[in-house]
Amino acid sequence: MGGGSYFVYILKCNDGTLYTGYTVNLEERLQKHNRGLASKYTRRRRPVEIVYHEAFLDRAGAMRRESAVKKMDRREKLALINGKAKIVISACLAGKECRYSGDGFDYPDLRRLVEEGCAVPVCPEVAGGLPVPREPCEIRGGDGFDVLDGRARVFDKSGEDRTGAFIDGARQIMEQARRAKARLAVLKERSPSCGSTVIYDGTFSGRRIPGCGCAAAMLYREGLELCSEMNYKMKIDWCRNKS
Ligand code: SF4
Repeated sequence: MGGGSYFVYILKCNDGTLYTGYTVNLEERLQKHNRGLASKYTRRRRPVEIVYHEAFLDRAGAMRRESAVKKMDRREKLALINGKAKIVISACLAGKECRYSGDGFDYPDLRRLVEEGCAVPVCPEVAGGLPVPREPCEIRGGDGFDVLDGRARVFDKSGEDRTGAFIDGARQIMEQARRAKARLAVLKERSPSCGSTVIYDGTFSGRRIPGCGCAAAMLYREGLELCSEMNYKMKIDWCRNKS
């Protein structure tokens, strides 16, 4: 799970429940849990064992990840522990209400993949620290590859520069994809983060241009196959056959 000085961990408690935490020293933290000194929750459920951990180079990244894992339901946590997830999916396509407008989409077969532990739902804009709801954003001066390479920037509708949040969010979901050993990403088309072939042109006029979003560009460079809600069915079969 890589080197690093900060750790997010999942404990299995003696009643079978899962507990997520963050530490700078895994061994010491485990001992504290088992001595009843680390949390009220685990004190009543000892002994506990570490069943999963991820390493981070900085505290902020570990804390963000801890918060994301804590929000996962049991099935998603088990998928992490069992290493089953092979696909990353734009979280809004799997029903999470994380869009700028505060809603999500319902693609039942994508939601089922998440429920079965075969896919990890990711939202790069929320991972980058943007709220829900939020102002819509568009890329000015190019597409996601240009943003990553410093030739274009992302602005919200009021003109605030959101480039930093978009790049940060893209990095985080790339890390999630790495940890899941994902080969395929099913991403929401036209989003400045997730669009894989088409995005808006940066004028907030509804005009579309060929190109991809920031997170899609990063995942592509990481070697993932990209597809969207328009063409995911065949790709999912392809990915499963390669598993
Ligand atoms: S398109 Fe991507 S960034 Fe936008 S809400 Fe969906 S998952 Fe989040």
